Order: sequence, then C-alpha cells, then structure tokens
Amino acid sequence: MKIDIHRHGADSGGADRVLRNLFPEEVPQMHAEGCYSVGLHPWLVKEETLDSDLETVAAAAAQPQVLAIGEAGIDKIKPVSLELQERAFRRQIELAMELDKPMVLHCVKAYNEIILLRKEYKPIQPWLVHWFYASPQMALEMVHQGFLMSFGLTLFYEKSKACRAFMQLPLEGIFLETDNADYSIEQVYTQAARLRDLSMTTLEKQMETNFTTCFNIIK
Ligand SMILES: [Zn+2]
Repeated sequence: MKIDIHRHGADSGGADRVLRNLFPEEVPQMHAEGCYSVGLHPWLVKEETLDSDLETVAAAAAQPQVLAIGEAGIDKIKPVSLELQERAFRRQIELAMELDKPMVLHCVKAYNEIILLRKEYKPIQPWLVHWFYASPQMALEMVHQGFLMSFGLTLFYEKSKACRAFMQLPLEGIFLETDNADYSIEQVYTQAARLRDLSMTTLEKQMETNFTTCFNIIK
C-alpha cells in the first residue's frame, strides 16, 4: 500500500491512501470516507477573514476523518505579515492540542521559529513538516524534538540539502508526498526506495507503520 501524506485536489495520484489537504474554502468538498488535513495555510491568512476561517477549520477538524490540522505554519518569503501568520499558526497549534491531533506544517525559512514554538507549547502530538527543505543537521535536530518530515520532488535532486537530509534520517521519521505535483506517488516511492536501498515492500511497510503511529490508528 502506498500512502501519500500530503496532496491537494480530489485525484489520488495513484496512491492507495491520501491525506488530502483542504483549505477552509475547500471544506465543503470533504466526504465521510477518506482522510484529510484541514488548516489555514500561511499564504492565505487575512486579518478580515482570520476568525471565520479558523472557525471553519475548527468545525471541520472535529470530524473523525480529519486526521491532522494543517497545512499551517510560517513562510518568510511570502508577503503576508509574519505577526499575522504567527497568530493564525498559534491558534491552530492550540486547536490541534485541544483535539489531540497531529499537525501538517508548511515552513519556509522559519525552521528555528517553529522549533521554538514546539518547545513553548510542548505538544505530545507529532508535527509533520511537509516538503521539508533544510539541512541534514536541522532534520536530525527536529526528529529529536518530535517532528516528522515529508519528502517529494526534492528526492529527485540528489544534491539538494533536503535529499541529503532524507538520506540521514531514521526511517521512522519519514513520510512521502506529491503535494501539487504532476508526478505520481509511485515515482516518489521508487526514488525513495532506490536512495535508501530498500525493497518496495520494506518501504511500504515502514510508511504504513509511520502512518499508524503518527495518527494513533489501531490496526
Ligand atoms: Zn501543500
């Protein structure tokens, strides 16, 4: 079974299980079956709609098919006020802790800030950084702090720091994703198995174990 831990849109991209991400405006597309992450993306945070968007997220997040809150986080290269991004992120951290659900994080050039927030809140739930893009040292430090990391396209750029981080992480700390990309999860799994010198069966089993552990799902 191949799991895509972060993907947008209704199409499964060939995965057996998808953690489909929904923005507040997409919440009406949610079905009773399937599994979802629902959150307010840092690019979409607006002062005028912050409260209503977070109410939509909170109402959806209480549903059992919503396994995680997100994607949420901090993006330092987008022209959205950092103060506002952090306010939205903090409220979603509090929601995730209240609902006892993990988070899916969007993080661009804000890894230190996100680590500090995790140290401040001390959630027991894991935080999964999608599209991880930082150094191997940062990845190892973050695993130690209770983060998990998801990889997709960057695995095809073998010299990238993200791919180097992927090579060094314990397999228990890893997930695979397609996000918005027009390649399949099959291609990502094939590349990941090749890089880590694993059989496809071993990789699939590991990703299933990581999924059940992260989302506290009893098999
Ligand atoms: Zn995404």
